[in-house]
Amino acid sequence: MSTSLSDRLTAELSGLRESGLLIHPRVLDSASRARTRVDGREVVNLASNNYLGFADHPALKARAAEYLERWGVGAGAVRTIAGTLRIHEEFESQLAAFKHTGSALVLHSGFTTNQGVLGALLRDGDLVVSDELNHASIIDGLRLTKATKKVYKHADPDDLERLLKEHDTDGLKLVVTDGVFSMDGDVAPLDRLVEVARRHGAVTYVDDAHGSGVMGESGRGTVHHFGFEYADDVIQVGTLSKAWGGVGGYAAGHGDLRQLLINRARPYLFSTAQAPATVGALSAALDEVQRDPTLMARLWDNTRYFKAELQGLGFDIFGSTTPITPVIFGEAPAAFEASRLLFERGVFAVGLGFPTVPRGLARIRNIVTAEHTRDDLDHALQAYAEVGRKLSIIS
Ligand code: PMP
Repeated sequence: MSTSLSDRLTAELSGLRESGLLIHPRVLDSASRARTRVDGREVVNLASNNYLGFADHPALKARAAEYLERWGVGAGAVRTIAGTLRIHEEFESQLAAFKHTGSALVLHSGFTTNQGVLGALLRDGDLVVSDELNHASIIDGLRLTKATKKVYKHADPDDLERLLKEHDTDGLKLVVTDGVFSMDGDVAPLDRLVEVARRHGAVTYVDDAHGSGVMGESGRGTVHHFGFEYADDVIQVGTLSKAWGGVGGYAAGHGDLRQLLINRARPYLFSTAQAPATVGALSAALDEVQRDPTLMARLWDNTRYFKAELQGLGFDIFGSTTPITPVIFGEAPAAFEASRLLFERGVFAVGLGFPTVPRGLARIRNIVTAEHTRDDLDHALQAYAEVGRKLSIIS
C-alpha cells in the first residue's frame, strides 16, 4: 500500500519535533527595524540582516512608490520574453558601475542566484572546490552541476591548494567561498584564496550575501575590500535582500558573464522578473549608501561597540570581526533558553543549534545594524549580562 500524505506529514513533523528541530518562526507586527514589535512585544531587534536600516528607509520607500506608480505592480513576464523593463537594465548598469565590474545581472534572490550561476557555468569535467562552511544555496547550486565537487577546510588556503593539485583538470576550475560567513561572522581570507586559485588557473567565486553593503568602501563588498573588483577571474554573487533592504540577488564580474547568464541561468530564464517597486527601492539603496557615509560609519561603530562590550562581559564571540556577532552557549538547549530569556527582557535574537552550526557550538547570532542607537545596544547588553549570569555562561 502506498504512503498517504497524512502519514508522511505526521512522520516528518514528529521526527522534527522529537529532535527539537521543529521551527516556529516569531512574527513581526511592524516593519523590520532596529526596534520593532514581535509577537506583540516591543523589542530591540538583533535578528535581522537589515545592516543599513534600509528595510524601512524613507528614501527607498519613496523610489519604490514612484516606480510602482509609473511601472506597475509586476513585470508581467520572465526577463527573456517580455519582462525586461527599462528599469531592470538601468539598475544592472548602476550595480555594475557601483561594483566596478564588467557586467552585472540581477536575479530573484541570493538563493536562486547561486543555483542559476553555478548551474549555468559548470559542466562535466570541471572542478569546483568549495569551503566547508559555504551557504546552503551554494551546496544546492552545486548539486545541479556535473562538475567534480571537493570541499576544503574552512578558510584554509593550504587545503584548497592540496585539492586543486590532486584533482587538476583541463576543464574550468572554480574556488567557491562566502565573503563573510553567515554563522561565524568571519571574513574569507580572499587575498590568499585568490592567490592560490590563480596559481592553479582557477576562477574565484565569492558569495557576498553578508559582505555586500557591509564590507569595502560604501559597502561595495568583500571583493572590493581586498581590491579584486576589476579582476576578470573573480565572480561576485550576493543578495539584495539583506543590507540593500529589498529582495533579489546579483552576479557581477567578467564583461561577458551577464550575457551567458541571460542565456543559461535557469531561474533567469524561467521565473518572472523582479517587481518594479523592488527595483526602485534597490536603486535608491545604492544611491543612498554613497550619499550618506554616516550609514556605514554607524554600522561599524555599533559593531565595534557591541562586540567589545560583550567580550568585556566575558562572552565568547568566536573571533567574529563583522556585524554578525555570535555568542556561544555550548549545547542547543542553552542557546534556545537564552534566546527565550532575552526575549522576555525585550531583546529579539535567535538561537541556532546543530545541524545549522556544529554540536557544542550552539549560539545566538546577533546582527548589529546602522539603525541601532546606543540605547538599543545598551539595553541588549544589560539583558545579555542578566541572562549570561542566570545560565552561568559568564560570572
Ligand atoms: N548566500 C548566503 C551566504 C546567505 O547567507 C544567504 C541568505 N540566507 C543567501 C545566499 C540567500 O540570499 P536570499 O535571502 O537573497 O535568497
